[in-house]
Amino acid sequence: MNFHVMTLFPDQVSAFLGESITGRAIGNGLIKVNTYNIRDYTTEKHGRTDDYPYGGGSGMLMQAQPVYDCYRAVEKNIGRKPRVLYMSPQGKTFTQSMAEELAKEDDLVLLCGHYEGIDERALELIGCENVSIGDYVLTGGEMPAVVIIDAVSRLIPGVLHGEDSATFETFHDGLLEYPQYSRPEVFEGLRVPEILLSGNHGKVDEWRREQSIKRTLELRPELIDESKFSKKELKYYHKLLDEKSGL
Ligand code: SAM
Repeated sequence: MNFHVMTLFPDQVSAFLGESITGRAIGNGLIKVNTYNIRDYTTEKHGRTDDYPYGGGSGMLMQAQPVYDCYRAVEKNIGRKPRVLYMSPQGKTFTQSMAEELAKEDDLVLLCGHYEGIDERALELIGCENVSIGDYVLTGGEMPAVVIIDAVSRLIPGVLHGEDSATFETFHDGLLEYPQYSRPEVFEGLRVPEILLSGNHGKVDEWRREQSIKRTLELRPELIDESKFSKKELKYYHKLLDEKSGL
């Protein structure tokens, strides 16, 4: 999959993605991250890319011309109109299901704003989808772009070593992941749950599923969708609810 990041700070993006799992995926050719420095496309003297907003107000705005010309270069490079995400606190909140959907694309363009954002006309001409990584305001769209690229990349076959790694995981089926343990069996007096040492895979799966339900009910009850539970799980879930309400 090819990611195309339009930014004023390409090094911020490359520095993070060049390491660890994403770095290895880039090395193996499973993903490609092309960064485009918006500054390279300005027609203004001294490489200027921002200006004061009309109507006053604080801060500077990224100008339409360099952003739009940069986008046209990206579009030319890809050879067709790509899907473009504008990193924006005003956008739709990024979720795991969005990551799963984006992982089906061949090319994805991520546009990073800075300062007070980008002249609206560039966004209109490009035809962007606004995506936010949460209800807070950051200084730039580089971290949001990296967050999205990371979350999408790990869903691409081969990027994670075990293919299962991204399948049975928090949010995948609307539940949080079960607690996990590694060696040693006893740490500071705390034992690994006995069932995990039993070698009985069926029982382990059942225990994990119950732990996921329990944990989701404790931490993120709004995620629970009872229709996804088996009869047995539903019974377990209602037992937990009764315990919670002190019945
Ligand atoms: N003036 C803008 C507003 O009130 O909506 C905020 C601009 S913010 C300081 C600068 C840039 O950071 C934005 O253009 C956007 O690209 C990025 N950004 C900030 N917070 C973000 C978030 N929560 N999700 C995605 N991008 C964000």
